Amino acid sequence: MKVSGLTFTELKKWVTAELGMKPYRAQQLFSWIHMRRVISFHQMTDVSLSARNRLDQVAEITSLNTCNTITADDGTVKSSFTLEDDEVIESVLIPDSPRLTACISTQAGCRYGCTFCQTGRGGFRRDLRTDEIVAQLYSLQSMTDDRISNVVFMGMGEPLDNFPALSDALSIISDDRGICIGARKITVSTVGIPEGIGRLAQLDGQYGLAVSLHSGVESTRRKLVPVSKTLPLTELKRDLMDYLSRKGRRITLEYCLIAGINDTIEEADALVKFASDIECKINLLIYNPVEGVPYRSPGIESVNRFMHYLYPRCQAVTLRRSRGSEIAAACGQLGPAARNTSPT
Ligand code: SF4
Repeated sequence: MKVSGLTFTELKKWVTAELGMKPYRAQQLFSWIHMRRVISFHQMTDVSLSARNRLDQVAEITSLNTCNTITADDGTVKSSFTLEDDEVIESVLIPDSPRLTACISTQAGCRYGCTFCQTGRGGFRRDLRTDEIVAQLYSLQSMTDDRISNVVFMGMGEPLDNFPALSDALSIISDDRGICIGARKITVSTVGIPEGIGRLAQLDGQYGLAVSLHSGVESTRRKLVPVSKTLPLTELKRDLMDYLSRKGRRITLEYCLIAGINDTIEEADALVKFASDIECKINLLIYNPVEGVPYRSPGIESVNRFMHYLYPRCQAVTLRRSRGSEIAAACGQLGPAARNTSPT
């Protein structure tokens, strides 16, 4: 049993029903694994030797094998991990004082094939298990003395396409008996999977939702995010409004500016119209070149023109600084072809 992938409720059930142990053992185990982050049952000094031996026989705490770590000049750290089936995934640690953010992967590869994204180019290989998702966070935390304050599910893969593992990971990460990163400090990023947005809205925590919009023009969005052919903007907007009415938490619209594709005033106007009646923040990002992809970063004049069109017309607009682009750790750059230089 991969116990580090069990939520507290699941762990308690397993410890009592399967092992015949007292319920308090679940509290001990959960705290050792997720708060103190030990990787061996024999490090659990307040657990009896016989219980430790039994756990050692039937259970496993997942720790990842780091195959490469690179640090960028801005302090961003990209780590590649080899999984037990030799899949390689990537996670990123982004210092931005006072925040320290972990960007986590949820799949090996991705089935959605966004045309600007390195991960999508390699195709889908498999979903990550909950223990593999959580272990990325703990591996990143072990690399720094500073406490990771925020988690974004923007690494390799579409998080809402792996909902069961994602929801258990969210429960574990935000549990105050463990690493205890508050739900409001955790953001799930999606291309807009309707069923997943609905399921995320039904979870208890106030998790942040970020949507990779990239264009308010249907034809442009279909070019950048091919899955949007079956997910029209009108339906995406309806899903976002439903999420807002359930959670009451502002949504982030992610918009990656690409030269000559979605950085025109017509595109800015379409974005204003899409965002007009949604309580949201628009997060602009400048495209990071990916080898073999025919897109270019926009010039500063084009970025400024786009921003100035949005500013008086939108509730909140930010231009996100690109972090770690020189080590291929920035948005859309994680993935197979980047392995040698070192995972949305
Ligand atoms: S941007 Fe996200 S959903 Fe699109 S291909 Fe990349 S990882 Fe998949």
